Amino acid sequence: MALGNLKTKYMTRNDCYTAGRKITPKGIMVHSTATPGVMAADWFSRWNKSYKAGEINRQVCVHAFLDDKEIWQYLPWNNRGWHAGGDANNTHIGFEICEPGGFSYSQNQMVGYDVKKNEAYFRAAWENAVKICVYLCREYGLTEKDIISHAEGNKKGIASNHSDVGHWFPKHGESMDTFRAAVKKALENVGKAKEVFETGNIVEIKGSARTYYPGGPIIPNWVKWNYHLITQDVFNGKPVIKGGKQCVLLGKTILKSTMGEKAGIMTWVDKDNLEMVSAGVEVEPENESGKKYYRVQVGAFSEKKNAEALMTRLKKAGFDAYMKYD
Ligand SMILES: [Zn+2]
Repeated sequence: MALGNLKTKYMTRNDCYTAGRKITPKGIMVHSTATPGVMAADWFSRWNKSYKAGEINRQVCVHAFLDDKEIWQYLPWNNRGWHAGGDANNTHIGFEICEPGGFSYSQNQMVGYDVKKNEAYFRAAWENAVKICVYLCREYGLTEKDIISHAEGNKKGIASNHSDVGHWFPKHGESMDTFRAAVKKALENVGKAKEVFETGNIVEIKGSARTYYPGGPIIPNWVKWNYHLITQDVFNGKPVIKGGKQCVLLGKTILKSTMGEKAGIMTWVDKDNLEMVSAGVEVEPENESGKKYYRVQVGAFSEKKNAEALMTRLKKAGFDAYMKYD
């Protein structure tokens, strides 16, 4: 699964990054910045500094910041972070939700916070917070039960005495319990929206996949580095089952760099090992000045260069292709 609005830029100057201690993530800690109006992208220049070199007066770093629009990842997820002020740093991925501007703090309380005015910002940031949790839960085999706030971490004795996010969420009628419930629901929906992999789809193999199907050959890395075209999803009219799993044939390899085709690996692969890159052809009728057009979408990409590569390929093949961003 990809996180559409995730941007990654590591804080390589921060001592936390250079310390490079690894963790096996066991949970997620939710923070909020208590710094009104400073958005996710702004934190890079603030924190990409070395305490040892005297460039910043705090030893602090967190895996990601998010606001109503973007999610910025500043540390590898398995790099030990400095966000909890306690043992949770050894186990928890931490992210900060940026707080909107237009108010101030006095004795750790929000002063002059306009709930109505900030409701839209809060909802959008909340959605991003749910999204990053869903993404991390799936990536590290966690559930909503593994998500705590900084304040809850303090109650458990694994984080310093901070009140985030309990000083903010209730203003919008929410709590960590309703947040976990939202993540739980979103996780269930991901499961339900399980994609149908069939002939014509361009797919990639999940990073976590080890063998093509249970008990099958080990997948070499180069196979994971490129995309593949599904060229067959049945054999003699019947689904193909290997190692107890329904498989499809990856009959053509698509180079990630150019989207050019080359000979495929011609291997049956468990559908559960696949991620969708392009769900083939979607046709939608459209009315324009009395005429009816059929517009065909052949791909959806999170990276522009991949979309451009596919467009180049289509143009070479003689199609009048164009790109749309939404
Ligand atoms: Zn915090």
